[in-house]
Amino acid sequence: MAVATSTTLWWTLRQTQELAQPYQQSDLWYVSSIHSELARVSLLAHNVADHGTSASELRERLDVLLSTLDTSAQAPRISTQLRDALPHTARNLDELLHQAEAWSQRLGAAGADGAAVAADIVGGSDAQLDTVRKAVAAVHLLNTQQTDRARQQLHDRFKVLSAVLGSLLAGTALLVWRLVRDARLASAMSQQLAQANRQLEVRVASRTRKIEEGRALLSFILDTSPSDVVLADVENGKVHFINHQLTERLGLKAPPQTLFLHQLLHDPAVGESLMQALDQYGQVDALEAQIGEHHPSWRSLSARLIEVDGRLAHLLWGFDISRHKELESQLRELATRDALTGLLNRRAFMEGGTALFDHCRRHAQPCTVLMIDIDHFKRINDQHGHQTGDAALRACAQAIESALRDADLLGRLGGEEFAALLPHSSTSSAFKITERIRDALARMHLASPDGQPLSLTVSIGMAEMEPTHPGIEPLLADADRALYRAKATGRNKVLACEPAIQQP
Ligand code: GH3
Ligand code: MG
Ligand code: MG
Repeated sequence: MAVATSTTLWWTLRQTQELAQPYQQSDLWYVSSIHSELARVSLLAHNVADHGTSASELRERLDVLLSTLDTSAQAPRISTQLRDALPHTARNLDELLHQAEAWSQRLGAAGADGAAVAADIVGGSDAQLDTVRKAVAAVHLLNTQQTDRARQQLHDRFKVLSAVLGSLLAGTALLVWRLVRDARLASAMSQQLAQANRQLEVRVASRTRKIEEGRALLSFILDTSPSDVVLADVENGKVHFINHQLTERLGLKAPPQTLFLHQLLHDPAVGESLMQALDQYGQVDALEAQIGEHHPSWRSLSARLIEVDGRLAHLLWGFDISRHKELESQLRELATRDALTGLLNRRAFMEGGTALFDHCRRHAQPCTVLMIDIDHFKRINDQHGHQTGDAALRACAQAIESALRDADLLGRLGGEEFAALLPHSSTSSAFKITERIRDALARMHLASPDGQPLSLTVSIGMAEMEPTHPGIEPLLADADRALYRAKATGRNKVLACEPAIQQP
């Protein structure tokens, strides 16, 4: 559109420039001047010829005519366009020039007859005047035609320019309309966007509130829960959450800023294995361990390796199993200990004795067992009552235990019968221990319900581990046989399984 407008404007400007060219009118002025000058020359020639006036003025007018006609000057008077458009007129003017030059030369010649030349001029000037008049008319007509054509062209170009400008106006109006429409659309869209933003903000605020409420509720649940809960960064130990229960358990008044899981565990080795399991598997379930440094308590711990805010974190929770562990310990005691004396019961003695027996055999160490039976214990019960019998049994158990070494194993096999396994002891060294047992029993201060002192003796059978013994049971059987012999041969004595040495 801009190119079309520019082209049309340039085109129109060029046309107006052409119309503004001076040669348009100068051609007419030129031929009109020639006509005027020729008319003056003709008039003067008439005066010279008719009245015999001086020819000098005629000659001057001829020079003026010649200078008017002269087209050899730097700028030809008659335009090239005129020569092209009216060649006949141009030729006539050229002939007039030659004629005028001839008249001028004749007048200028020495002894020239001014009256004769003037007569010739009078004779030829009328025809020439007529020719120049026709030239004036032709130039005038040509000018008029050219002007009309140019006006017509100008009118056409103005129409084109009007059409282009009209199109430009229409295009501009369309552009403005589209701009206005786009601006309205943009305004409507921005309003919709603002509304959507407001709705989004409301929803985000509502969601945030719900999340915060959820968090507060979760914190409340976790804080009031009997479980220990902590969530901490793996790398820097930053505590994301820790509940009151665990904070108190750690003996802290305020939640710690940093905490590494392994610091929670009482046993560093357990802490290390917990961390390894988390690194390897990402989770640990129901690990029974003690937490707390100074007053450890048992927990069933579970942990997960999770991601919080793009960073790895450890989540750990644990249940208090102190009571469970206590009961477990009590049950273990009940299962392995004799309720009356606190010594190992038969089953626990057999388990421990088997392990000790195997150990000694593996290390080629001697090992001896003692079967200890209280003499005539039935009489105690019969004479002083069952409670006195129980007290006597407890006292005997303590006395025998005090006589043994730490590494020795003692158990109550049943009734008033005890067994001891003495690792790293041959029969001869075991005799020393049996003597200590008998001494300890002799030094007991037992009394009957009525305050009478009571004394007890024991019979002991012993047997040393031999390569022929496949396990502890045959060894005990050998010791039992030796005990039987001790009973049978008078009681209150120690006998070794034959062929072992018998105490004198
Ligand atoms: P011996 O010298 O031949 O071993 O005679 P004894 O009386 O010691 O042996 P016996 O096997 O005849 O009797 C064992 C008694 O031990 C019988 C039982 O009343 C008593 N006794 C077993 N267990 C208990 C107990 O737990 N408490 C009490 N008070 N007595 C028990
Ligand atoms: Mg007995
Ligand atoms: Mg007995």
